Parts: sequence; structure tokens; C-alpha cells
Amino acid sequence: MSTTWHVLGAGSLGTLWATRLARSGAPVRLILRDTARLQAYEAAGGLTLVEHGETQRFAVPAETPESIEPISRLLVACKAYDAEAAVAKLAPRLAPGTEVILLQNGLGSQDAVAMQVPQARCIFASSTEGAFRDGDWRVVFAGHGFTWLGDTCHPVAPIWLEDLSTAGIPHEWNTEILTRLWRKLALNCAINPLTVLHDCRNGVLQDHHCEVATLCSELTELLERCGQPAAAENLLSEVERVIHATAANYSSMHQDVTSQRRTEISYLLGYACKVAERHQLTLPHLTQLQQRLITRLHSLGLPSD
Ligand code: NAP
Repeated sequence: MSTTWHVLGAGSLGTLWATRLARSGAPVRLILRDTARLQAYEAAGGLTLVEHGETQRFAVPAETPESIEPISRLLVACKAYDAEAAVAKLAPRLAPGTEVILLQNGLGSQDAVAMQVPQARCIFASSTEGAFRDGDWRVVFAGHGFTWLGDTCHPVAPIWLEDLSTAGIPHEWNTEILTRLWRKLALNCAINPLTVLHDCRNGVLQDHHCEVATLCSELTELLERCGQPAAAENLLSEVERVIHATAANYSSMHQDVTSQRRTEISYLLGYACKVAERHQLTLPHLTQLQQRLITRLHSLGLPSD
């Protein structure tokens, strides 16, 4: 009997994973916030995945955190700022050796979760897949991509990667997952806050070359200081390539701000600034960028943490 995938959070990525796993025949259970959300989900009759214009519904069973069934494999699909508290509630249900897969963007939330569940093996993921909700319990698979997974403590890949292959989830085991997460964080710090401050699509940053280059130089210094030289290699040229390749897109942070949603700033730019401070590294432009972004978020009535 295969191990059940408990999916914590039925938002964009949680639904994308849960529906593909369920479609392939893997046992999946959703863990929803509370009884009210569970009732709303049950009334909707399942999760809907919209892929290539086609709609499919999956009646994935769901429960609340208070359910007592033990958890052996947990996919955490909350936002970075919700992950620690959400997993803490489940800690008593996690047996020794439970595997916890963390899909959060940025850095900081993974360590916070790992502290809550020392009995578990925590696996970090970094994904370029894209999905958004166009209704409650309904997700559009917008951008096909790739997911890298890795464990900073144990290099050996888990057996259940086979489940991902069967479910058609493109992935690779990566023994340098922290490097990948740092690289993605640096790209995010160089692009996303500026798109909010200039209220623009990514491509407009081509007109702000000096500002982008100065940030990349400080981010490179930071990555080298905190033992991530590989994540620092040719950062500016990759940032420029991404800005060019995604010129017509609005960054995820811009989309969050436009929709009046809380951003993940504390796990992206905020995390970079905190680590710089810990290393007693003075990065004036990055610090100023953080201040400007916080001021902008406040002016829009959004949280800055
Ligand atoms: P999302 O659509 O906002 O989904 C988050 C889900 O977590 C929501 O359904 C929310 O429930 C649920 N949740 C929060 N606290 C919970 C709790 N205590 N118990 C149970 N459920 C809880 O977020 P997302 O876009 O999937 O992003 C998740 C993470 O993946 C983020 O770190 C994001 O940066 C990263 N990521 C996303 C994408 C993407 O394309 N979406 C791509 C790459 C990486 P409610 O519905 O009740 O609010």
C-alpha cells in the first residue's frame, strides 16, 4: 500500500500537486484550515484543475488539522509566512521519519518549519511551475516548469520520487538545493521589489539598468559572504536575461500588491537583509530598497512582514 500524500494548503501549488498525484492513482488527502473551509470544500465537490483549456475535477478527500490520522508524508503548500504555524499544529501527528516537503519560495520558512518538527526529514523544493486560482478550489496550470528537491542533511534521494514521475510532475533531486534557493532569492531581490516600486512589468527594468546592476553587485557580495559562491556566478547577466525573457509579465510580488495580498517580502528581500546584517555586511542599496518597499507596502495598507 503506497504512503498517503497529505497536502497542507489547497491553494495554487497545493491543488496543482494534489490533482496530478490523485490523477495518477496516488493516495492523497488535503488538510484544510478549519471546519468552515472543509465544509466549503465538500460543498464544492472537489478540486478543479484547468490545464490546456480543459477542466477536470478530482474528489480528493479532505480533513482539518485536528484529524487524528498519523501523517507519514506531508507536502506543505502554504505561503512562507503561514508554513511554520500550519505545520506546528500538525506536529503531534508526525511520526519519527515522516517526510515533509516544503514548496515555499524564498528562505527562512524552511528552517522555521524544521525546528517545529525535529522528528521529520525536511525536503526543500524550488519550483518554476506556475499556477493561479481563478475561483475557490479551482486552479489554472499557467506555466509548465520544473521542480528541484533536495535535503540539506542527507544527500540520498527518497524512493517516492517515483510517485512524481508517475504523476507527470517534472522534477530532479538536487544535492545543492540551498544554492538553487539562494539563486532564486537573489533573482527575486533584483527584480520583484523594483517592479513594485516602479509599478511596472518586468521589461521596464531594462530602463533601470544601473539600479539593477548595483543591486546585483551587492547581492553577489552577500552570496559570496554566506558561502554560496555558485549562486553568485554571473548573477547580473542572468537577471538581465530573465528581465528580457519575461518582459511582458508582472512579477509575483507586483501581482500580490495589485491584488492587495500580503507579499512574502520577509522570506525574500527581508531575509537577504537579515543575513547581511548577521554577517556585518553593509549593503546600502539593498537596505534602502527594503526601506522603500516597506514604505510602499504601508502606504497601500499592506503588511510589511
Ligand atoms: P496560495 O494559492 O495562496 O495557497 C496557499 C494555501 O495555503 C491557501 O489555500 C491557504 O488556505 C492555505 N493555508 C494557509 N494556512 C493554512 C493552514 N494553517 N492550514 C491549512 N491551509 C492553510 O499560495 P501558492 O501560490 O500556492 O503559494 C504557495 C507557496 O509556493 C508560496 O511560497 C509561493 O511563493 C510558492 N510558489 C508558488 C507558485 C505559483 O505559481 N503559485 C510557483 C512557485 C512557488 P485558504 O485557501 O483557506 O486561504
